Amino acid sequence: MRACWSEPILSTDGQVLGTFAIYHKVPAHPNAEDIERISFAANLAAIAIEHRNSREELERRAYTDYLTGLSNRRYFIEKAEAELVRHHRYGDTISLLMFDIDYFKQVNDQYGHSVGDLVLQKIAEICRTILREIDIIGRIGGEEFAVLLPKTDVEEAKNVAQRLRIAMSEGKVEMPTDIEPPKFTASFGVMSSDKDAIDIDELLNQADDALYKAKESGRNRVCVAEKIK
Ligand code: GH3
Ligand code: MG
Ligand code: MG
Repeated sequence: MRACWSEPILSTDGQVLGTFAIYHKVPAHPNAEDIERISFAANLAAIAIEHRNSREELERRAYTDYLTGLSNRRYFIEKAEAELVRHHRYGDTISLLMFDIDYFKQVNDQYGHSVGDLVLQKIAEICRTILREIDIIGRIGGEEFAVLLPKTDVEEAKNVAQRLRIAMSEGKVEMPTDIEPPKFTASFGVMSSDKDAIDIDELLNQADDALYKAKESGRNRVCVAEKIK
């Protein structure tokens, strides 16, 4: 390499997105026409990169929940349905957890909505720490979450739910002031199936019934759906 000319690729607001470089095997320098061509190529690259970045950002916003970074309800269902197609093909057992924060309204009332938001973020962090890469997590309602556990039977799913439940009951959010952080717990419903015709609505309905039982019987506990299939 005997010569190089490098041109920054700038975004519309002046950020460097990359560089466009031309190399020569002999010593050389660009003339006015070369510089015009190089600038043209760098501008074209800038347009393409900005276009791709904004499309990715739009997609990210459409699929994820801004507060927790988890999949939103729509994207959770889309991913879960894709996983169920795989499950139908291989006929293994799949489980679904649903959980809902206990007395969350009281946390908001007592500490304010922004501390409530910190609790939601903490819960997402606990889920990411405890769950596997292949598990699908979604924030499917305000303070309601769902986790699809591929290749997991009811006993394993109950264990996962208990581990999440305990971690949450011990979880502490970082408070902006030195007041004691709120205590929080969640109630869990578990549904498992090895039936190949099961769909996401049925899994969610059954897990929701079990979650309701967990709430009714005192909260901060795990209940299993009666109609395990
Ligand atoms: P339960 O044990 O029966 O679930 O009681 P709960 O108080 O959790 O249930 P309820 O459905 O009465 O209250 C849910 C609360 O969740 C009310 C709502 O303000 C709060 N919430 C929903 N989304 C958000 C959010 O994004 N941020 C905060 N801080 N609170 C939220
Ligand atoms: Mg709720
Ligand atoms: Mg609740």
